[in-house]
Amino acid sequence: MAEGEHLVVVGAGVSGLTTAVVLAEAGMAVRVVADEVPGVTSLAAGAMWGPYLVEPKEKVDHWSRCSLDVFQRLAVEPDVTGVRLTSGIEASRHSEDPPEWATTLPGFRPVGCGELPAGFASGYRFTVPLINMPTYLAYLQGRLLAAGGTITRGSLRSLAEAGPASAVVNCSGLRAGSLVPDPALRPIRGQHVVVANPGLTEFFSEDTGLSPDLLCIYPHGDIVVLGGTAIDGHHDPAEDEVAAAAILSRCVAVEPRLAGVRILAHRVGFRPTRARVRVEADRLPSGIRLVHNYGHGGAGVTLSWGCAAEVRRLLADS
Ligand SMILES: Cc1cc2nc3c(=O)[nH]c(=O)nc-3n(C[C@H](O)[C@H](O)[C@H](O)COP(=O)(O)OP(=O)(O)OC[C@H]3O[C@@H](n4cnc5c(N)ncnc54)[C@H](O)[C@@H]3O)c2cc1C
Repeated sequence: MAEGEHLVVVGAGVSGLTTAVVLAEAGMAVRVVADEVPGVTSLAAGAMWGPYLVEPKEKVDHWSRCSLDVFQRLAVEPDVTGVRLTSGIEASRHSEDPPEWATTLPGFRPVGCGELPAGFASGYRFTVPLINMPTYLAYLQGRLLAAGGTITRGSLRSLAEAGPASAVVNCSGLRAGSLVPDPALRPIRGQHVVVANPGLTEFFSEDTGLSPDLLCIYPHGDIVVLGGTAIDGHHDPAEDEVAAAAILSRCVAVEPRLAGVRILAHRVGFRPTRARVRVEADRLPSGIRLVHNYGHGGAGVTLSWGCAAEVRRLLADS
């Protein structure tokens, strides 16, 4: 991959924008094409750094560590980037060992029952990047434009329509299912409720395993993102009022200061889920180089910088 090559990145979610920033800052001419700017699913994320339920483990460990380094640096300017290093507790109603990825985070320690809400049996405190997605995605767009990249709104019927380009990078999220096509992709629908912050500075999340009912409280300055849901196979983009009420009630039960808070927004997205994240070199039927970067499930923010670096390596090798 030589400097000055013309690349098209399909997708303006966290995967596409991060990849475009990495390539543009490496000296490539980069154009992003997308019909959602920024991607709706990326906007809906909470978002906390944490490589949950994604494979392949060895690569995921490497990609997520790479992103953690970047997020820790971006947290120096939280008002600009939307990234804040936040201390808080992940807890379980059962006696659970901590997730391996949490144990190396700053401030990691088990917490005693006195620090846990009623009904919880185990928990761990650590400090982790929380990412306020609307601010963060706007920051990425600004950084891309500053590096000379461009963003065009448009809907593609195929990846071949992305050209003219010397290479195409496919960051189309869930819709890679029809664009590639890739029948291995499926949505896991998620919903969050955004409320005015009653003064919370710490996160709380419950390890709910594979349950569709999640519980997370992510403060981002003036707002708090409350979660959530994980409904396998569901495509409905409409906000579910019953689910929103249940999210609020679960969150109030562990954080009474959330009772009666003003609701600001509802966010719905579709985790682009696949047995393994796909970051892989390919070719379009015309022979033009194609690199895929999709299928990040519930960890696309967490993996974004590591996967973008891998795309750059694959382009350099092809
Ligand atoms: C409720 C919820 C909570 C989450 N929480 C977290 C979290 O805490 N931490 C974390 O790491 N991850 C989290 N995730 C997962 C994360 O949001 C996703 O993995 C990530 O956003 C996927 O990003 P993406 O850029 O691949 O896809 P998307 O954001 O879906 O972007 C896809 C882009 O491709 C474009 N596109 C697709 N097809 C076409 C086409 N044919 N023509 C033109 N453009 C096209 C779209 O317009 C869009 O811009 C969460 C997800 C949800 C739903």
